[in-house]
Amino acid sequence: MQEWHRQLEELAQQGMKRTLRTIESAQGPWVQVAGRDLLLLCSNNYLGLASHPALVEAAGAAMERYGFGTGGSRLISGSMRAHRRLEEALAAFKGVDAALLFNSGYAANTGLLPALFGPGDLIFSDALNHASLVDGCRLSRARTIVYPHADVAALEALMAAQAPQRQGRWLILTDGVFSMDGDLAPLPDLVRLKHQYDALLMVDDAHGTGVLGATGRGTGEHFGCLDAIDLHMGTLSKAMGGFGAFVAAGQPLIDLLVNRGRSFIFSTSLPPAVAAAGLAALELLQGEEGERRRQELWRNREAFAAILHAAGLDLLGSVTPIIPVLTGEPGPTMALTDRLLDKGIFVQGIRPPTVPTGRCRLRATLMADHREPEVKYAAEQMVAALAEAQ
Ligand SMILES: *Cc1c(COP(=O)(O)O)cnc(C)c1O
Repeated sequence: MQEWHRQLEELAQQGMKRTLRTIESAQGPWVQVAGRDLLLLCSNNYLGLASHPALVEAAGAAMERYGFGTGGSRLISGSMRAHRRLEEALAAFKGVDAALLFNSGYAANTGLLPALFGPGDLIFSDALNHASLVDGCRLSRARTIVYPHADVAALEALMAAQAPQRQGRWLILTDGVFSMDGDLAPLPDLVRLKHQYDALLMVDDAHGTGVLGATGRGTGEHFGCLDAIDLHMGTLSKAMGGFGAFVAAGQPLIDLLVNRGRSFIFSTSLPPAVAAAGLAALELLQGEEGERRRQELWRNREAFAAILHAAGLDLLGSVTPIIPVLTGEPGPTMALTDRLLDKGIFVQGIRPPTVPTGRCRLRATLMADHREPEVKYAAEQMVAALAEAQ
């Protein structure tokens, strides 16, 4: 006990102790925290679907019909019509044979990688891949080579060096949109390398799904290479406003996941209301309203980024609604978060292990239903707070 206590004190001294902030309202562009209304600038609810009436209604109707819980895992008694319908729609969305739901993106990545890859296989993994991919690689026990972030030449050199002693399957593993930098994987080049070296390509498009591409199909659609991705992972929890995740791929891979994906097999399935809301979100984001919301999101993103750019801030190559500004060490970062809270703006400072040591940041995310003056106010306040902190 004493040792744990000491660890907590050490974290506090380093400015690294995390605590929970409780939201008292529904999720939207404004949220209530400790009795105050705050402009929310750090949610992944990009399209504002988390509180959308269509999702709430779909979940309610499913609860009326199917009740709440599922009482079991998918392979025992918990596979329900709502799951199947959503999986079929997700497969069509990504243009592949089949899809399989997982209870979260974390569960999908830590289930999928060990199910499909093992000792003897080789995974090339981007240095800034999400923690769930890192853990999935570890659990797979495949050899993992981490290549410098988005560095195609370095990846190519690593692949060329490994080629002579090749054995087993090769996988190129990347986020589509990098969650803490807001930049994109160089997918067209990764597709070229995948063909050149007979590797598979897996894209974790947690932040791309619903946001990127003309119809929201993600980073692959944005680059015009959706068909070249072997394993699509996406979540229902960010732009889709709900909860859960999916893997979309060829039928044999999905069948294997049903048989070998431990996080799929040994976990109770998602409530049917969650799956029904997921289907409503998927329909919404492919329709006219989805297109309008994406336009609003991107308009807000451009307006926000323009003010930060004009102030000379470095946005780390962000080209998405995720906009980071480096602040360095934990102490000053959290002081900036507090200062912005005083101004009514909620933008969470990000510290290790979410980002590398010394690369703490303010990570702002825009939403479709932020209004223009709010976006402007938030950007100006952020610029002012950063300038004062200099
Ligand atoms: C958020 C995220 C996940 C995890 O998804 P959850 O559904 O929240 O568990 C996985 N990968 C990336 C890149 C993410 O940003």
